Amino acid sequence: MSAPVIDYRLDGIYRQRQEGYFMQRVKLPAGVISAQQARTVAAVAEQYGKAELHLTTRGSMEIHWLQEADLAAVKRALAKAGLTSRGACGGAVRGITCSSQGAAGFPALESLARRIHRHFTGNPRFERLPKKFKIGIEADSNNGRHLIQDVGLVFSENNGSGDCYDVYLAGGLGREPQAGFLYETGVAEERLIPLIEAVANVYAAHTSAGKRLKHLLRRVGETTFRRLISREPAYGDEFPPSGGLPEHLATPANDHRIEIGVFAGLLQAADLHKLADSAEQQADGTLMVTAEQNIALHPACSASHAAILTTLHQAGFKTAGTVFRVCPGSDLCRMGISPTRTVAGQLLEAMGTNARELRWALSGCHNSCTQPQLADIGIVTAGLAKDSSGERTPRYDIIRRQDQEGLGTVTDHSLTLEELLSRVAELH
Ligand code: SF4
Repeated sequence: MSAPVIDYRLDGIYRQRQEGYFMQRVKLPAGVISAQQARTVAAVAEQYGKAELHLTTRGSMEIHWLQEADLAAVKRALAKAGLTSRGACGGAVRGITCSSQGAAGFPALESLARRIHRHFTGNPRFERLPKKFKIGIEADSNNGRHLIQDVGLVFSENNGSGDCYDVYLAGGLGREPQAGFLYETGVAEERLIPLIEAVANVYAAHTSAGKRLKHLLRRVGETTFRRLISREPAYGDEFPPSGGLPEHLATPANDHRIEIGVFAGLLQAADLHKLADSAEQQADGTLMVTAEQNIALHPACSASHAAILTTLHQAGFKTAGTVFRVCPGSDLCRMGISPTRTVAGQLLEAMGTNARELRWALSGCHNSCTQPQLADIGIVTAGLAKDSSGERTPRYDIIRRQDQEGLGTVTDHSLTLEELLSRVAELH
Protein backbone atom coordinates (compact mmCIF):
# COMPACT_ATOMS: atom_id res chain seq x y z
CA MET A 1 0.00 0.00 0.00
CA SER A 2 1.42 3.42 -0.94
CA ALA A 3 1.86 6.13 1.72
CA PRO A 4 -0.93 8.75 1.90
CA VAL A 5 -0.24 12.02 0.09
CA ILE A 6 -0.08 14.77 2.71
CA ASP A 7 -1.39 18.24 1.87
CA TYR A 8 1.23 20.71 3.14
CA ARG A 9 -0.23 23.82 1.51
CA LEU A 10 -1.29 25.60 4.71
CA ASP A 11 2.35 25.38 5.79
CA GLY A 12 3.31 27.25 2.63
CA ILE A 13 4.57 24.17 0.79
CA TYR A 14 3.78 23.06 -2.75
CA ARG A 15 4.87 19.90 -4.45
CA GLN A 16 7.39 20.71 -7.13
CA ARG A 17 7.16 19.52 -10.72
CA GLN A 18 9.95 17.05 -9.99
CA GLU A 19 8.51 14.08 -8.09
CA GLY A 20 9.69 13.90 -4.48
CA TYR A 21 10.70 17.58 -4.23
CA PHE A 22 8.93 20.47 -2.50
CA MET A 23 8.93 24.27 -2.50
CA GLN A 24 8.72 26.22 0.78
CA ARG A 25 7.34 29.76 0.46
CA VAL A 26 8.26 32.24 3.22
CA LYS A 27 5.80 35.07 3.98
CA LEU A 28 7.43 38.49 4.33
CA PRO A 29 5.01 41.27 5.34
CA ALA A 30 5.37 44.06 2.75
CA GLY A 31 8.37 42.14 1.37
CA VAL A 32 10.64 43.19 4.26
CA ILE A 33 13.15 40.82 5.84
CA SER A 34 15.92 41.57 8.32
CA ALA A 35 19.50 40.80 7.37
CA GLN A 36 19.66 38.11 10.07
CA GLN A 37 16.49 36.46 8.79
CA ALA A 38 17.79 36.60 5.21
CA ARG A 39 20.91 34.73 6.31
CA THR A 40 18.67 32.04 7.82
CA VAL A 41 16.72 31.66 4.57
CA ALA A 42 20.00 31.45 2.63
CA ALA A 43 21.38 28.87 5.08
CA VAL A 44 18.21 26.74 4.80
CA ALA A 45 18.49 26.81 1.00
CA GLU A 46 22.13 25.76 1.28
CA GLN A 47 21.54 22.98 3.79
CA TYR A 48 18.33 21.48 2.45
CA GLY A 49 17.84 22.81 -1.11
CA LYS A 50 20.10 23.68 -4.04
CA ALA A 51 21.49 26.89 -2.53
CA GLU A 52 19.17 29.09 -4.57
CA LEU A 53 15.95 31.03 -3.99
CA HIS A 54 13.13 32.42 -6.04
CA LEU A 55 11.86 35.94 -5.28
CA THR A 56 8.16 36.35 -6.04
CA THR A 57 6.18 39.32 -7.31
CA ARG A 58 4.28 39.25 -3.99
CA GLY A 59 7.44 39.88 -1.97
CA SER A 60 7.93 36.32 -0.74
CA MET A 61 10.98 34.06 -0.90
CA GLU A 62 10.69 30.49 -2.14
CA ILE A 63 13.12 27.66 -1.41
CA HIS A 64 12.92 24.82 -3.94
CA TRP A 65 14.36 21.32 -4.05
CA LEU A 66 13.42 20.36 -0.49
CA GLN A 67 12.81 16.74 0.45
CA GLU A 68 9.83 15.61 2.49
CA ALA A 69 11.94 14.30 5.36
CA ASP A 70 13.46 17.77 5.85
CA LEU A 71 10.26 19.86 5.84
CA ALA A 72 9.82 19.88 9.63
CA ALA A 73 13.45 20.89 10.17
CA VAL A 74 13.07 23.68 7.61
CA LYS A 75 9.97 24.95 9.42
CA ARG A 76 11.83 24.94 12.76
CA ALA A 77 14.85 26.72 11.30
CA LEU A 78 12.66 29.48 9.86
CA ALA A 79 10.62 29.78 13.07
CA LYS A 80 13.81 30.25 15.14
CA ALA A 81 14.47 33.35 13.03
CA GLY A 82 10.92 34.64 13.54
CA LEU A 83 9.78 33.68 10.05
CA THR A 84 6.54 31.92 9.21
CA SER A 85 5.07 30.25 6.20
CA ARG A 86 1.66 29.47 7.64
CA GLY A 87 -0.97 30.30 5.03
CA ALA A 88 1.59 31.12 2.34
CA CYS A 89 -0.15 28.59 0.04
CA GLY A 90 -3.61 27.01 -0.03
CA GLY A 91 -6.94 28.46 1.10
CA ALA A 92 -5.71 31.08 3.54
CA VAL A 93 -4.84 34.75 3.89
CA ARG A 94 -1.61 34.94 1.91
CA GLY A 95 1.39 37.18 2.47
CA ILE A 96 0.48 40.87 2.77
CA THR A 97 2.06 42.64 -0.17
CA CYS A 98 3.20 46.20 -0.78
CA SER A 99 4.83 47.46 -3.97
CA SER A 100 5.31 50.97 -2.52
CA GLN A 101 8.57 50.29 -0.72
CA GLY A 102 10.10 53.32 -2.45
CA ALA A 103 7.45 55.71 -1.07
CA ALA A 104 8.36 58.12 1.71
CA GLY A 105 5.44 56.83 3.80
CA PHE A 106 6.38 53.17 3.41
CA PRO A 107 7.14 52.49 7.11
CA ALA A 108 3.48 53.16 8.04
CA LEU A 109 2.38 50.76 5.29
CA GLU A 110 4.81 48.11 6.50
CA SER A 111 3.54 48.52 10.09
CA LEU A 112 -0.04 48.03 8.87
CA ALA A 113 1.04 45.00 6.82
CA ARG A 114 2.61 43.47 9.94
CA ARG A 115 -0.57 44.01 11.98
CA ILE A 116 -2.78 42.43 9.31
CA HIS A 117 -0.27 39.58 8.85
CA ARG A 118 -0.22 38.90 12.61
CA HIS A 119 -4.01 38.97 12.88
CA PHE A 120 -4.77 36.52 10.09
CA THR A 121 -1.71 34.25 9.93
CA GLY A 122 -2.37 30.94 11.66
CA ASN A 123 -5.84 32.08 12.73
CA PRO A 124 -8.02 28.98 12.18
CA ARG A 125 -11.07 31.16 11.46
CA PHE A 126 -9.35 32.27 8.26
CA GLU A 127 -7.76 29.03 7.15
CA ARG A 128 -9.45 26.46 4.94
CA LEU A 129 -11.04 29.24 2.87
CA PRO A 130 -12.39 28.21 -0.56
CA LYS A 131 -9.15 29.33 -2.19
CA LYS A 132 -6.40 31.90 -1.68
CA PHE A 133 -7.25 35.31 -0.18
CA LYS A 134 -4.86 38.10 -1.11
CA ILE A 135 -4.37 41.47 0.58
CA GLY A 136 -2.20 44.31 -0.74
CA ILE A 137 -1.41 47.75 0.68
CA GLU A 138 -0.25 50.61 -1.55
CA ALA A 139 0.80 54.24 -1.12
CA ASP A 140 -1.15 55.24 -4.24
CA SER A 141 -3.07 53.73 -7.11
CA ASN A 142 -0.45 54.42 -9.81
CA ASN A 143 0.68 50.90 -10.70
CA GLY A 144 -2.72 49.21 -10.41
CA ARG A 145 -1.66 46.55 -7.89
CA HIS A 146 -4.65 47.37 -5.67
CA LEU A 147 -6.86 46.07 -8.52
CA ILE A 148 -5.60 42.48 -8.39
CA GLN A 149 -6.17 41.72 -4.70
CA ASP A 150 -9.16 40.24 -2.89
CA VAL A 151 -8.68 43.27 -0.62
CA GLY A 152 -6.63 46.18 -1.99
CA LEU A 153 -5.88 49.09 0.38
CA VAL A 154 -4.69 52.43 -1.00
CA PHE A 155 -3.57 55.19 1.39
CA SER A 156 -5.90 58.16 0.97
CA GLU A 157 -5.13 60.67 3.73
CA ASN A 158 -4.29 61.30 7.34
CA ASN A 159 -7.45 62.95 8.64
CA GLY A 160 -5.83 64.30 11.79
CA SER A 161 -6.89 61.29 13.87
CA GLY A 162 -5.03 58.70 11.83
CA ASP A 163 -4.40 57.17 8.43
CA CYS A 164 -7.30 56.34 6.12
CA TYR A 165 -7.42 53.99 3.15
CA ASP A 166 -9.56 53.44 0.06
CA VAL A 167 -10.69 49.82 -0.03
CA TYR A 168 -10.98 47.83 -3.26
CA LEU A 169 -12.52 44.35 -3.24
CA ALA A 170 -12.76 41.19 -5.31
CA GLY A 171 -9.95 41.65 -7.81
CA GLY A 172 -7.91 38.76 -9.15
CA LEU A 173 -6.03 37.47 -12.19
CA GLY A 174 -5.82 33.86 -13.39
CA ARG A 175 -7.89 32.55 -16.29
CA GLU A 176 -10.63 35.15 -15.70
CA PRO A 177 -8.93 38.42 -14.72
CA GLN A 178 -11.15 40.92 -12.95
CA ALA A 179 -10.21 44.34 -11.57
CA GLY A 180 -11.27 44.99 -7.99
CA PHE A 181 -14.03 47.57 -7.49
CA LEU A 182 -13.92 50.56 -5.14
CA TYR A 183 -15.89 49.44 -2.11
CA GLU A 184 -15.36 52.41 0.21
CA THR A 185 -13.16 55.49 0.39
CA GLY A 186 -11.34 56.93 3.39
CA VAL A 187 -11.73 53.96 5.78
CA ALA A 188 -10.01 54.66 9.11
CA GLU A 189 -7.16 52.24 9.90
CA GLU A 190 -8.97 51.04 13.05
CA ARG A 191 -11.82 49.72 10.89
CA LEU A 192 -9.67 47.86 8.38
CA ILE A 193 -9.08 44.52 10.12
CA PRO A 194 -12.75 44.09 11.18
CA LEU A 195 -13.81 44.97 7.62
CA ILE A 196 -11.38 42.42 6.15
CA GLU A 197 -12.72 39.84 8.64
CA ALA A 198 -16.26 40.56 7.41
CA VAL A 199 -15.19 40.11 3.78
CA ALA A 200 -13.32 36.86 4.54
CA ASN A 201 -16.31 35.49 6.48
CA VAL A 202 -18.67 36.26 3.58
CA TYR A 203 -16.20 34.62 1.22
CA ALA A 204 -15.97 31.48 3.39
CA ALA A 205 -19.73 31.19 3.85
CA HIS A 206 -20.96 31.85 0.31
CA THR A 207 -18.30 30.62 -2.10
CA SER A 208 -17.75 27.06 -3.27
CA ALA A 209 -14.37 25.37 -2.92
CA GLY A 210 -11.85 26.37 -5.55
CA LYS A 211 -13.52 29.72 -6.34
CA ARG A 212 -12.16 33.19 -5.54
CA LEU A 213 -13.98 36.17 -4.06
CA LYS A 214 -14.37 37.62 -7.58
CA HIS A 215 -16.54 34.63 -8.50
CA LEU A 216 -18.88 35.36 -5.58
CA LEU A 217 -19.18 38.99 -6.65
CA ARG A 218 -19.96 37.93 -10.21
CA ARG A 219 -22.57 35.42 -9.04
CA VAL A 220 -24.50 37.56 -6.55
CA GLY A 221 -23.91 41.09 -7.94
CA GLU A 222 -22.54 44.14 -6.14
CA THR A 223 -25.70 45.05 -4.22
CA THR A 224 -26.06 41.64 -2.58
CA PHE A 225 -22.30 41.41 -2.09
CA ARG A 226 -22.32 44.69 -0.15
CA ARG A 227 -25.38 43.62 1.87
CA LEU A 228 -23.74 40.34 2.88
CA ILE A 229 -20.64 42.17 4.12
CA SER A 230 -22.60 44.79 6.05
CA ARG A 231 -24.55 42.05 7.87
CA GLU A 232 -21.44 40.42 9.27
CA PRO A 233 -20.97 40.99 13.04
CA ALA A 234 -17.37 42.16 12.50
CA TYR A 235 -18.44 44.79 9.96
CA GLY A 236 -19.17 47.60 12.41
CA ASP A 237 -16.28 46.87 14.76
CA GLU A 238 -13.43 49.27 15.28
CA PHE A 239 -10.14 48.26 16.86
CA PRO A 240 -8.52 50.55 19.44
CA PRO A 241 -5.72 52.65 17.94
CA SER A 242 -2.63 50.46 17.66
CA GLY A 243 -0.57 52.75 19.92
CA GLY A 244 2.89 51.73 21.10
CA LEU A 245 5.98 51.90 19.00
CA PRO A 246 5.82 51.55 15.20
CA GLU A 247 6.33 47.97 13.98
CA HIS A 248 8.17 48.56 10.75
CA LEU A 249 11.72 47.29 10.20
CA ALA A 250 12.61 49.35 7.12
CA THR A 251 13.47 53.04 7.26
CA PRO A 252 11.73 55.50 4.91
CA ALA A 253 12.97 55.45 1.33
CA ASN A 254 15.06 58.40 0.25
CA ASP A 255 17.13 59.36 -2.77
CA HIS A 256 19.76 56.81 -1.71
CA ARG A 257 17.54 53.75 -2.16
CA ILE A 258 19.29 51.00 -4.14
CA GLU A 259 17.56 48.26 -6.12
CA ILE A 260 19.71 45.29 -7.11
CA GLY A 261 18.54 43.44 -10.23
CA VAL A 262 17.85 39.72 -9.84
CA PHE A 263 17.13 38.16 -13.24
CA ALA A 264 13.82 36.27 -13.18
CA GLY A 265 13.90 36.39 -9.37
CA LEU A 266 16.49 33.61 -9.23
CA LEU A 267 18.92 34.46 -6.42
CA GLN A 268 21.86 32.36 -5.26
CA ALA A 269 21.99 31.80 -1.50
CA ALA A 270 25.62 32.96 -1.47
CA ASP A 271 24.50 36.28 -3.00
CA LEU A 272 21.77 36.67 -0.39
CA HIS A 273 24.44 36.34 2.31
CA LYS A 274 26.44 39.14 0.63
CA LEU A 275 23.37 41.38 0.33
CA ALA A 276 22.55 40.74 3.99
CA ASP A 277 26.09 41.78 4.96
CA SER A 278 25.71 45.05 3.02
CA ALA A 279 22.27 45.70 4.53
CA GLU A 280 23.63 45.22 8.02
CA GLN A 281 26.94 47.04 7.66
CA GLN A 282 26.00 49.87 5.29
CA ALA A 283 22.20 50.29 5.36
CA ASP A 284 19.31 49.94 7.82
CA GLY A 285 19.72 46.20 8.42
CA THR A 286 16.81 45.16 6.21
CA LEU A 287 16.32 43.89 2.67
CA MET A 288 13.19 44.29 0.62
CA VAL A 289 11.91 41.83 -1.96
CA THR A 290 10.38 44.16 -4.53
CA ALA A 291 7.30 43.52 -6.66
CA GLU A 292 9.72 43.35 -9.61
CA GLN A 293 11.55 40.40 -7.97
CA ASN A 294 14.62 42.43 -7.10
CA ILE A 295 16.25 43.25 -3.75
CA ALA A 296 16.17 46.82 -2.44
CA LEU A 297 18.29 48.37 0.31
CA HIS A 298 17.85 51.65 2.16
CA PRO A 299 21.19 53.27 2.98
CA ALA A 300 20.98 56.24 5.33
CA CYS A 301 23.08 58.76 3.40
CA SER A 302 24.92 59.37 0.16
CA ALA A 303 28.21 58.10 1.62
CA SER A 304 26.61 54.75 2.53
CA HIS A 305 24.91 54.68 -0.86
CA ALA A 306 28.26 55.05 -2.65
CA ALA A 307 29.94 52.50 -0.35
CA ILE A 308 27.21 49.89 -0.95
CA LEU A 309 27.32 50.39 -4.69
CA THR A 310 31.11 49.93 -4.71
CA THR A 311 30.86 46.79 -2.56
CA LEU A 312 28.05 45.26 -4.59
CA HIS A 313 29.52 46.11 -7.98
CA GLN A 314 32.82 44.53 -6.92
CA ALA A 315 30.85 41.43 -5.94
CA GLY A 316 29.29 41.30 -9.43
CA PHE A 317 25.84 42.71 -8.65
CA LYS A 318 24.11 45.12 -11.01
CA THR A 319 21.49 47.73 -10.20
CA ALA A 320 18.06 46.89 -11.59
CA GLY A 321 17.64 47.33 -15.36
CA THR A 322 14.73 46.31 -17.57
CA VAL A 323 11.66 45.38 -15.51
CA PHE A 324 10.89 41.77 -16.45
CA ARG A 325 8.86 39.71 -13.99
CA VAL A 326 9.28 35.98 -14.62
CA CYS A 327 7.89 32.95 -12.77
CA PRO A 328 9.72 29.60 -12.53
CA GLY A 329 7.43 28.07 -15.18
CA SER A 330 7.91 24.48 -16.26
CA ASP A 331 11.43 24.36 -14.81
CA LEU A 332 9.92 23.92 -11.33
CA CYS A 333 6.16 24.54 -11.17
CA ARG A 334 3.66 21.73 -11.72
CA MET A 335 1.34 24.14 -13.55
CA GLY A 336 4.01 25.53 -15.87
CA ILE A 337 3.82 24.82 -19.60
CA SER A 338 6.80 26.84 -20.81
CA PRO A 339 10.44 27.23 -19.67
CA THR A 340 9.90 30.86 -18.71
CA ARG A 341 13.40 31.76 -17.56
CA THR A 342 14.91 30.53 -20.84
CA VAL A 343 12.19 32.29 -22.88
CA ALA A 344 12.72 35.53 -20.92
CA GLY A 345 16.43 35.42 -21.77
CA GLN A 346 15.61 34.95 -25.46
CA LEU A 347 13.11 37.82 -25.36
CA LEU A 348 15.63 40.16 -23.73
CA GLU A 349 18.11 39.34 -26.46
CA ALA A 350 15.51 40.06 -29.14
CA MET A 351 14.52 43.44 -27.63
CA GLY A 352 15.69 46.76 -29.01
CA THR A 353 16.68 49.70 -26.82
CA ASN A 354 13.20 51.21 -26.60
CA ALA A 355 11.55 47.90 -25.76
CA ARG A 356 13.93 47.53 -22.82
CA GLU A 357 12.43 50.69 -21.32
CA LEU A 358 9.02 49.00 -21.10
CA ARG A 359 7.82 46.91 -18.16
CA TRP A 360 7.55 43.22 -19.07
CA ALA A 361 6.07 40.14 -17.42
CA LEU A 362 5.99 36.48 -18.46
CA SER A 363 3.92 33.74 -16.83
CA GLY A 364 4.24 30.02 -17.40
CA CYS A 365 0.47 29.43 -17.33
CA HIS A 366 -2.89 31.19 -17.03
CA ASN A 367 -2.44 31.62 -13.26
CA SER A 368 -0.54 34.82 -14.13
CA CYS A 369 1.66 34.88 -11.02
CA THR A 370 3.84 37.61 -12.59
CA GLN A 371 0.86 39.93 -13.09
CA PRO A 372 1.16 40.27 -16.89
CA GLN A 373 -2.11 42.26 -16.93
CA LEU A 374 -0.27 45.10 -15.12
CA ALA A 375 2.82 45.17 -17.36
CA ASP A 376 3.26 47.35 -20.43
CA ILE A 377 3.68 44.07 -22.26
CA GLY A 378 2.59 40.89 -20.55
CA ILE A 379 2.99 37.40 -21.92
CA VAL A 380 0.99 34.40 -20.76
CA THR A 381 1.69 30.83 -21.80
CA ALA A 382 -1.81 30.00 -22.95
CA GLY A 383 -1.48 26.31 -23.83
CA LEU A 384 0.22 23.71 -25.95
CA ALA A 385 -0.44 23.03 -29.63
CA LYS A 386 1.04 20.75 -32.27
CA ASP A 387 3.63 22.28 -34.58
CA SER A 388 4.31 21.16 -38.15
CA SER A 389 6.34 18.16 -36.93
CA GLY A 390 3.48 17.01 -34.70
CA GLU A 391 5.26 18.02 -31.49
CA ARG A 392 3.20 19.88 -28.85
CA THR A 393 4.91 23.21 -28.08
CA PRO A 394 3.89 26.22 -25.94
CA ARG A 395 1.68 28.99 -27.34
CA TYR A 396 1.83 32.52 -25.98
CA ASP A 397 -0.70 35.34 -25.66
CA ILE A 398 0.48 38.96 -25.57
CA ILE A 399 -1.35 41.31 -23.19
CA ARG A 400 -1.15 45.10 -23.53
CA ARG A 401 -2.24 47.55 -20.85
CA GLN A 402 -3.61 50.50 -22.79
CA ASP A 403 -5.77 51.94 -20.01
CA GLN A 404 -3.81 52.69 -16.84
CA GLU A 405 -7.07 52.57 -14.85
CA GLY A 406 -7.69 48.89 -15.55
CA LEU A 407 -6.08 45.58 -16.46
CA GLY A 408 -4.37 44.75 -19.75
CA THR A 409 -6.16 42.64 -22.34
CA VAL A 410 -5.00 40.09 -24.89
CA THR A 411 -3.94 41.62 -28.21
CA ASP A 412 -2.19 38.62 -29.83
CA HIS A 413 -3.38 35.05 -29.39
CA SER A 414 -1.59 31.73 -29.45
CA LEU A 415 1.81 32.70 -30.87
CA THR A 416 4.62 30.22 -31.30
CA LEU A 417 7.94 31.13 -29.69
CA GLU A 418 9.31 32.18 -33.09
CA GLU A 419 6.29 34.44 -33.70
CA LEU A 420 6.60 35.90 -30.20
CA LEU A 421 10.30 36.66 -30.68
CA SER A 422 9.68 38.34 -34.00
CA ARG A 423 6.85 40.50 -32.55
CA VAL A 424 9.18 41.58 -29.76
CA ALA A 425 12.01 42.34 -32.20
CA GLU A 426 9.62 44.58 -34.18
CA LEU A 427 9.25 46.81 -31.10
CA HIS A 428 12.92 48.01 -31.48
S1 SF4 B 1 2.15 31.43 -13.50
FE1 SF4 B 1 1.71 29.24 -13.58
S2 SF4 B 1 3.70 28.32 -14.06
FE2 SF4 B 1 4.11 30.35 -13.29
S3 SF4 B 1 4.47 30.07 -11.08
FE3 SF4 B 1 2.31 30.63 -11.38
S4 SF4 B 1 1.24 28.68 -11.44
FE4 SF4 B 1 3.42 28.25 -11.84
